[in-house]
Amino acid sequence: MRKIKRREFIRNGAVAGMALPMAPMILKQSVVKPLVIASANGNRFKNGGNVTAVQKAFTMMTGGSDVLDAVIAGVNIVELDPLDDSVGYGGLPNADGVVQLDSSCMHGPKKRAGAVGALEGVRTPSLVAKAVMENTDHHLIVGKGAQDFARNMGFKIEDDLNTENSRKQWLEWKRRTDPGHYLDPKKRAEAGKRAALEMLAEGLIREENLHGTINCDGINSRGEICGVTTTSGLAWKIPGRLGDSPILGAGLYVDGAVGAAGSTGRGEANLFNLCSFVIVEEMRRGAHPKDAGMEVLTRIKNNTIEKRLLNSRGLPNFGISFYILNAKGEYAGVTMYEGGSFALCNENGPQTLKSEPLLQGKPSD
Ligand code: ASP
Repeated sequence: MRKIKRREFIRNGAVAGMALPMAPMILKQSVVKPLVIASANGNRFKNGGNVTAVQKAFTMMTGGSDVLDAVIAGVNIVELDPLDDSVGYGGLPNADGVVQLDSSCMHGPKKRAGAVGALEGVRTPSLVAKAVMENTDHHLIVGKGAQDFARNMGFKIEDDLNTENSRKQWLEWKRRTDPGHYLDPKKRAEAGKRAALEMLAEGLIREENLHGTINCDGINSRGEICGVTTTSGLAWKIPGRLGDSPILGAGLYVDGAVGAAGSTGRGEANLFNLCSFVIVEEMRRGAHPKDAGMEVLTRIKNNTIEKRLLNSRGLPNFGISFYILNAKGEYAGVTMYEGGSFALCNENGPQTLKSEPLLQGKPSD
């Protein structure tokens, strides 16, 4: 006789109405109110059309599309929109002026995943991440290999994904930093940070786009959960730098029976703590999305001890946010500092809601 797995046993038992001991995991609900959650840019950019990412994803999902197809179609709007300079086409480039994109996606029900890192020349890295998932035995392809793979899969490779704006901002950054560029790391960090802060103060760039990304996760009425994260990464990064976005467990994690989590913000802090994985594991143990999110924000705070990463209060001097949903259709947007927001679409339409902060004040206080 086939051995019945614990989860199957619980699910079948629950259907048959058997009395069961409390299980330390979230059970898949048979009917869930569908929803899509995303970073705030998921309800801002429309790429000249009529709908935002969360609207598009929600409409497709509730119309019967696969949840991953739906959330990717949503983030494609932002990837293609030159006005969002943190994602896809027109994303702020790396230190050499080259736009390098990262993306990951996970399919809950199929238990499959794909990701690309430091991909050049393709506006929609999320679709290449999906092609990795569908066409290879691998989970992550980076650099030139990722571009060759994309070309072989029929994606159009463009010479340059800069827009006039992203090129202009890069030139300005370059002008303000040491032209030698690869300096003593401390000096380079200081020069780069000073230039970035000046440019923020002058309104040339927006804070969310120094660190910017879109993460979008959805659950349909059958409780099927998928997620995608896509980004141009940290502005002016060292070429080849990968952030958290393409790393499963960091920028995105989906367990089809438990939930999904994804992030935007300082990727290094997330890579060090593998937060999306931890969030999903916390939810598996029964934590509400908000509490699971607060747990990882607290870990990040406690693991941030380098002086250069601390503000005058001894707290992290950077922002990081998470977008979380569980298999019951509960959700949360959480963030290190007050003032953040996230996008949501459910039966009430697209909304931008306040994220729950761990800390008061600003990263720079
Ligand atoms: N988390 C991404 C990264 O570190 C981008 C961001 O949101 O800043 O590459």
